[in-house]
Amino acid sequence: MAYDQNNIFARIIRGEIPCAKVYEDDLTLAFSDIDPKAPVHVLVIPKGAYVSMNDFHEHASDAEIAAVTRAVGKVAKITGVDKTGYRLIANNGADGNQEVPHLHLHVLGGRHLGGMVKKPEPA
Ligand code: 5GP
Repeated sequence: MAYDQNNIFARIIRGEIPCAKVYEDDLTLAFSDIDPKAPVHVLVIPKGAYVSMNDFHEHASDAEIAAVTRAVGKVAKITGVDKTGYRLIANNGADGNQEVPHLHLHVLGGRHLGGMVKKPEPA
């Protein structure tokens, strides 16, 4: 899948759309999700143009990969969920129900989040 330069997160990186910034460095940006699913719901993104984890792990530099991991740790500390616990989610592709085609990690916390993924109801 080709990277869409006009996806919503690309526009946030370019400053065309505002965001509630939580953390930023040369390679990453983290901002509050516009529709939070938990008291803490922050999205961590690389500034580089990567559609998904498939794209990122194949094409990103080691520095970019390290920066995203470090940014998650910074966000956890800034929001306080490093102490209470949190969940990382990276929806990837169709079965992952990825909606925005720019790699992003959801950092969710601030309450107990329950089970990871619901099993389908028995038929
Ligand atoms: P996905 O389903 O792709 O893993 O997650 C996309 C996330 O982006 C959703 O949680 C959605 O609420 C969030 N989102 C979509 N548009 C915007 C926006 O314009 N600003 C912010 N801050 N979050 C957005």
